[in-house]
Amino acid sequence: MKIFKDKHTLQKEISKTTGISFIPTMGGLHKGHISLIKQSKKSKSKTLVSIFVNPKQFNKKSDFMSYPRNTKKDIKLLKKLNIDYLYIPTFKDIYGFKPKNKFFLDKSSKKLCGKFRKGHFEGVLNVVNRFIEIIKPKYIYLGKKDYQQLYLIRKHIEYKKIKSKVIECKTIREKNGIACSSRNSNLNKTQMKIASNIFYYLSNLKKKIKKDYSLFRINKIKKDLKSLGATKIDYVENYNIKSFKKIKNANEKFNLFFAYYIKKIRLIDNI
Ligand code: AMP
Repeated sequence: MKIFKDKHTLQKEISKTTGISFIPTMGGLHKGHISLIKQSKKSKSKTLVSIFVNPKQFNKKSDFMSYPRNTKKDIKLLKKLNIDYLYIPTFKDIYGFKPKNKFFLDKSSKKLCGKFRKGHFEGVLNVVNRFIEIIKPKYIYLGKKDYQQLYLIRKHIEYKKIKSKVIECKTIREKNGIACSSRNSNLNKTQMKIASNIFYYLSNLKKKIKKDYSLFRINKIKKDLKSLGATKIDYVENYNIKSFKKIKNANEKFNLFFAYYIKKIRLIDNI
């Protein structure tokens, strides 16, 4: 595994390859990231993982500061997984140049997380656009756990006619049901149990509302989540996963999207 901190050295190295499979991450690696990497390793291209905690996608400085970081442990894990390249850029390496393309932000960026985290998706698209310009990956592996992010990156790639192909990867979960996330390392045992109970409550709710949509009563659901231990609920909504619009009835193919807090820790998922 070769490690790069500077885009020019990286570009020189990867220009010799026939294609790159790219997995962007913010580090704090877990089973979700590992599954993306393992899928990428099945392709014939070289696997490149990036670790960059992008300050521009955090709308609160305190959230950026408390985001879990463990680069030493991550490097050890990536070496074991035998990836080809690891790119750990500095802020200047990513933001110290003017990209040829401006990023495209679809209007659905205003919904769900976009409504509650002002500027978040602008930050995500800004950094992804820059990574794509530096790396020009053949494939880019993204998790369905962050479905809105995946949807918006796909829209950007389509709109800008970028040649990279998005590979959607399924959500990997802990034994207790909750989606693996770097932020889970900030949860204590009790909070983990709350998150698990909320996951099972919402999974059951989805099964029920598929049969009888009148059971989707948002105020009652929010009240139930609070009594299960959620501190604050940003949203619980059913979205058609193709059109990324609120569903009109339960015959559509939909996922239940939710974001909530346990104390200061914000968790998102879709089921
Ligand atoms: P992050 O480091 O949180 O920015 O995530 C990097 C990539 O890993 C994104 O494409 C995420 O959607 C994906 N990812 C995060 N958690 C999971 C998970 N539990 N299952 C699958 N993919 C995930």
